[in-house]
Amino acid sequence: AARGSADLIAAEDAVLAHNYHPLPVVVSRAEGVWVEDVEGRRYLDMLAGYSALNFGHRHPALIDAAHRQLDRLTLTSRAFHNDRLAEFAERLAALTGQDMVLPMNTGAEAVESGIKVARKWAYEVKGVPADRATIVVAADNFHGRTTTIVSFSTDETARSGFGPFTPGFRIVPYNDLAALEEAVDDTTAAVLLEPIQGEAGVNIPDDGYLAGVRELTRRKGCLFVADEIQSGLGRTGRTLAVEHEGVVPDVVLLGKALGGGIVPVSAVVGRREVLGVLRPGEHGSTFGGNPLAAAVGTEVVGLLETGEFQQRAADLGAVLREGLTELVGRGVVGFRSRGLWAGVDIDPALGTGRDVGERLLREGVLVKDTHGSTIRLAPPLVITEEELRSALEALEKVLAQA
Ligand code: PLP
Repeated sequence: AARGSADLIAAEDAVLAHNYHPLPVVVSRAEGVWVEDVEGRRYLDMLAGYSALNFGHRHPALIDAAHRQLDRLTLTSRAFHNDRLAEFAERLAALTGQDMVLPMNTGAEAVESGIKVARKWAYEVKGVPADRATIVVAADNFHGRTTTIVSFSTDETARSGFGPFTPGFRIVPYNDLAALEEAVDDTTAAVLLEPIQGEAGVNIPDDGYLAGVRELTRRKGCLFVADEIQSGLGRTGRTLAVEHEGVVPDVVLLGKALGGGIVPVSAVVGRREVLGVLRPGEHGSTFGGNPLAAAVGTEVVGLLETGEFQQRAADLGAVLREGLTELVGRGVVGFRSRGLWAGVDIDPALGTGRDVGERLLREGVLVKDTHGSTIRLAPPLVITEEELRSALEALEKVLAQA
């Protein structure tokens, strides 16, 4: 007989490393915005795989692209060319207004690759003395989990016990141009930032900050590397979150939704002067740019080329904002939102974000807490207005009960 939720959770607990604390739901199938657990209960997915499922679960066009590619060719490694990579890179570069693409797999790998490329650019193009390059980052950042990336995290839980750390990073407060002005000097290869800090609780900088970072980095002769792994690909109502300020960074890091929730696909996209510093043998990945990833990624780019998903995020974002505004003072102490993405601060007297997540689970809505009493809402962009309103009603209900 098929194993039930309680049995599977207990089994996971016994055999898996405890680096996550999932909500107690065991999902076995999904379509669009709906997931179903092993007992057949249905839930509205308001997390969307941390934005990896921007197009919903098993979007027909993406599944079709994956199926067709599975029947032809799945992996060559970059030892050989494959017939899917060129079009993926051409259309991704065009979509993001950049020249070149470096395909990788996970978000953290894209960040690592962006750091390596920025350093190499600093030595070869800017003329920074060997091994002296610095990268300026923001406090409360989240860029992934590798040793180098946690080296410049300000989250003690993410760092503690994992040293020694990679040197060469300077941390400044987010949303503070004066601090950035002071930190950037002749050794600075890049300023690396999330245009909106997702894990920090959907932390949105003041209007003008990103344009200010663009102006400052250009004036001081260093790169602006935007980590759009969570904010990009439609989530905020634009293809990239930096577009809200008309900013074009030197390098953009993409991941999550680039693989359509099917395969891990990430990329560094950037100017020719920057990505052009890499020569054969200096960087790579066995799976980076594989034909299955390229086929799905091309279809993802195709969905975004229509502008339909960006428009949905913008339109439904207004509904989300309106609904959350009505909850302020009724269990919600504040929120930040852009497009279909919100960080919602729950009155701590009503419980932690985790508590609210568990209560919403019982109402058939899946969300994830970030820090303390903050929950994050990031539904698939295919959600309907009615479904979005029902999620807001569920939130209203659990806050009223608390
Ligand atoms: N950068 C940002 C902004 C992210 O939100 C994340 C994941 O949450 C990452 C990088 C890391 O991506 P991955 O988990 O695929 O390594």
